[in-house]
Amino acid sequence: MTYIVVGNSAAGLFAVEEIRRHDKQSELIILTAEQEPSYSRCLTTYFLAGDIPVSHLYLRNSDLAERLNLKIVYGVKVNGIDPTQQIVRSSDGQEWHYSKLLLAMGSSPKKITIPGADLPEVFTLRTMVDALAINKVLERGAQKAVVIGGGLVSLKSAYALRKRGLEVTVVVSSKQILSQMLDQKAAEIIQKHLRINGINFVLDTEVKLITGNDHVKGVMISPQTVLAADLVIVGKGVVPNVGGLKDSGFNIGRGLKVDSSLATNLPNIYAAGDIAETWDLVRQKFMVNATWPNATTQGRIAGANMCGGQEVYPGSLGLNSVDFFGLSAMSVGITKLPDNMNSGDWKQEENLKMEGDKSIYRKLIWQGDILKGFILVGDSSQCGVLTTLIKAGRPLTQAQRNLTLSKRGTLIVGMMR
Ligand SMILES: Cc1cc2nc3c(=O)[nH]c(=O)nc-3n(C[C@H](O)[C@H](O)[C@H](O)COP(=O)(O)OP(=O)(O)OC[C@H]3O[C@@H](n4cnc5c(N)ncnc54)[C@H](O)[C@@H]3O)c2cc1C
Repeated sequence: MTYIVVGNSAAGLFAVEEIRRHDKQSELIILTAEQEPSYSRCLTTYFLAGDIPVSHLYLRNSDLAERLNLKIVYGVKVNGIDPTQQIVRSSDGQEWHYSKLLLAMGSSPKKITIPGADLPEVFTLRTMVDALAINKVLERGAQKAVVIGGGLVSLKSAYALRKRGLEVTVVVSSKQILSQMLDQKAAEIIQKHLRINGINFVLDTEVKLITGNDHVKGVMISPQTVLAADLVIVGKGVVPNVGGLKDSGFNIGRGLKVDSSLATNLPNIYAAGDIAETWDLVRQKFMVNATWPNATTQGRIAGANMCGGQEVYPGSLGLNSVDFFGLSAMSVGITKLPDNMNSGDWKQEENLKMEGDKSIYRKLIWQGDILKGFILVGDSSQCGVLTTLIKAGRPLTQAQRNLTLSKRGTLIVGMMR
């Protein structure tokens, strides 16, 4: 028996650890495009901010391969699979035979194709290599940065650059920041807080081009306006790494479609993490929910099932949380009333109050008596209770609702389990 796991990050790491828990003997191999042992992408911005040293990014001790009797092949890019012969191929011509295969190749940043995007100080931030290269530009004395995009990775990058003392402007094509995660009101609270902490914003604006001959000089946002910059970070979202798999017979939507055992449509092949399109618990449809906790859970369950387990993946949740300069924001599930709300008895409850100069915002989205999503800004203390209620997906009576939203909310959660 040979288990092959492609990808050495959240999903791949949790999968191999689970496989070894069930099967102590069989051959176990990780193939990974990068040269690094497993590390946390989520922490790369904290490294760039100077909050943690690079050594804190690594997820396991250096004896992992020996401890798990695991072969890790670094620097190989898988670009084809023959599901009939059960062979994985890489771009350097190597082949590996598998008995069970997990695809945990994650996703890659979307590129922008405007003029100047190939200048050396224009980056996306996904890998350790990206983070180290950005850090070099910072160490060379970069003073002004433009971040293109208003999503989570962009704002975490902007936070990091500001903490390193740069003048930072975030240019966003939509009318609000964090549009996938928050509603307008929550986004405005976060934006105001970031502005107070020195980050500038230009909303509803497309970047036209990046100026400079050999090096970045600025970012043009209109024929009259060029924002001076010696560093640009582009964060326009990610796409699952399914490119090399298109001809192998997989059922592919945005990502690789998997069933509740995390198996793909091809025999003995599983998928987990950012590459996988899983059932979304709240939206009740297949989606790519590209977050670290979804990837680790899926990796673990896929690993168990590759060893003959019968574990059922209940479904993924869109869940995001951030903390910028002491202000937290978290959202789970549906955060804006859907367009077809009339057909489904949708309601929202909003509560905005000030504690001193701090805004505390809470929004709950209900379908009938079932909690479908929430946003919390400034006070995340109810996030555990609310997330459990969303996962449970059961209707609440008015009395239960009142209790849930009081300080004794954990009582209700105990009853739902
Ligand atoms: C800067 C940043 C901040 C983030 N912050 C958060 C956060 O705060 N909270 C959160 O939940 N999520 C966050 N995320 C998202 C989170 O990191 C991802 O959801 C998570 O890493 C997905 O894990 P994965 O194992 O599916 O894939 P990835 O982490 O993308 O890993 C993919 C693995 O596959 C390998 N690989 C890729 N292609 C190939 C190939 N063709 N052949 C061989 N190997 C290949 C890669 O080298 C890598 O080892 C952040 C991401 C970034 C970039």
